[in-house]
Order: sequence, then structure tokens, then C-alpha cells
Amino acid sequence: AKINIAIDGLSGCGKSSTAKAVAKTLGYKFIDTGAMYRAVTLYVLNEAVDLTSKESVIQALEQITIDFRYNQESQKNETFLNGQNVEEEIRSMRVAGSVSQVAAIKEVRVAMVAQQQQMGKDKGVVMDGRDIGSVVFPEAELKLFMTASTEVRAKRRQAELREKGEEVALDEIMKNLEERDRIDSTRDESPLIKVEDAIEVDTSNLLFEEQVQKVLDLALQ
Ligand code: C5P
Repeated sequence: AKINIAIDGLSGCGKSSTAKAVAKTLGYKFIDTGAMYRAVTLYVLNEAVDLTSKESVIQALEQITIDFRYNQESQKNETFLNGQNVEEEIRSMRVAGSVSQVAAIKEVRVAMVAQQQQMGKDKGVVMDGRDIGSVVFPEAELKLFMTASTEVRAKRRQAELREKGEEVALDEIMKNLEERDRIDSTRDESPLIKVEDAIEVDTSNLLFEEQVQKVLDLALQ
């Protein structure tokens, strides 16, 4: 029978790429919930909504529709904001710099979580984020908590950004990852935590293929 797999953990430790590869092998749906918070943030930045005003961000929510569409060519799920493909833009440092602030707003989370629960209601979903095992799918059959050293995470992220033509210094990336982890794990609303029944996977010394295999082994147990 199909199960739901919840992957939570620190920023930039390969949750999404692992989740995506696992979903592909199992024939499951992959949902990157961080992309949704990033899309909300992109909208807020583009429309010059005052980020420090919760009320303004909450109001902007009504103007936002997010969906994922499968791109045959790249064989990837891509993120759409109000019908526009924003998959590239949401991965920028500009968005990374503000997303944790937006994601700390309760009403933003309530709206995203409702949509995520809808997407996973039929099982057979691999979902990654910060609150999947704790809030979105507390009944998920397999829960993982992924970590890696800040330096390893930053180096991987730097390579990803470089591939897209954005050159960012390592210490700037390290600062952003640590700052997001700090905000994400100390916010009032569903903070990032390792729930009791989650299995911790430290990917610092794992090759990508190894971390995917580890999750597959756990899923097929
Ligand atoms: O996973 P990713 O790094 O793309 O997520 C970007 C940000 O979105 C996180 O740093 C966090 O602030 C927020 N987020 C969240 N809850 C989730 C997924 C992401 O708060 N389920």
C-alpha cells in the first residue's frame, strides 16, 4: 500500500532533491512545500508589500494562487505563481533572504498547510519542508529529519546557484542558512522540530545516491 513520506530538516541539506528522487523511484508524487513559501515571498517582494507588516502580507495572500505543473521537457515539477512560471526566481538569494520572515506568519502557514494536506490526501506523496511530520501529515508512515553541517550545506547551495549563473560568497550563504534555521526553529507558529517518531539522517558524509538509497530502504521496510 502507498504511504506518505515526510521529510523535514535544516535548510539546504538536500531534502528536496532527495524527496524528488525517492518519489520518482517509488512512482509517488513529490511536493516541495518550501517552493510555496518562496512563491508567496516572491509575490510580496515584487509587489513591494511591506514585509514588516503582517496585515499587509496577509492581505496579499488573497491575490496569490500557487500551483505545480509538470514540465515534460525537464521532467520536473515547476512552481507557478498566478499562472506564471517562477521556478527559477524563487531559488534566488533575494527570496531566500526574506522567506523565513514570511513563513513565520500564522495565516500564511494556515493557507499553505491546507493546500498541502489536499495534495497528499490520497497517499503516495513525498513531501519536504519544516512542519510536514509535525503539522501537515502527523500520521505519515515515514518521517525523516535531515541535517548536515553548515559548510557542507553552503557548498552544495553555492554550486546550485552557480549553475544558474548566480555567484554568491560561501559565508553569505552560510549566514543565510543559519539565519533561516534560527528563525524557522524559534518561531511561535509550528517551528522546525524533530518530532519523536522521525528518523534523523545526517547527510554531511553521504553521497547523493547514498542518501536517496537510505530513504528508499526505510520506505520499503
Ligand atoms: O525548503 P526551502 O529551503 O525551500 O524553504 C524555504 C523557507 O520556507 C524555509 O527556510 C522556511 O522558512 C519556509 N518553510 C516553512 N515550512 C515549510 C517549508 C518551508 O516554514 N514546510
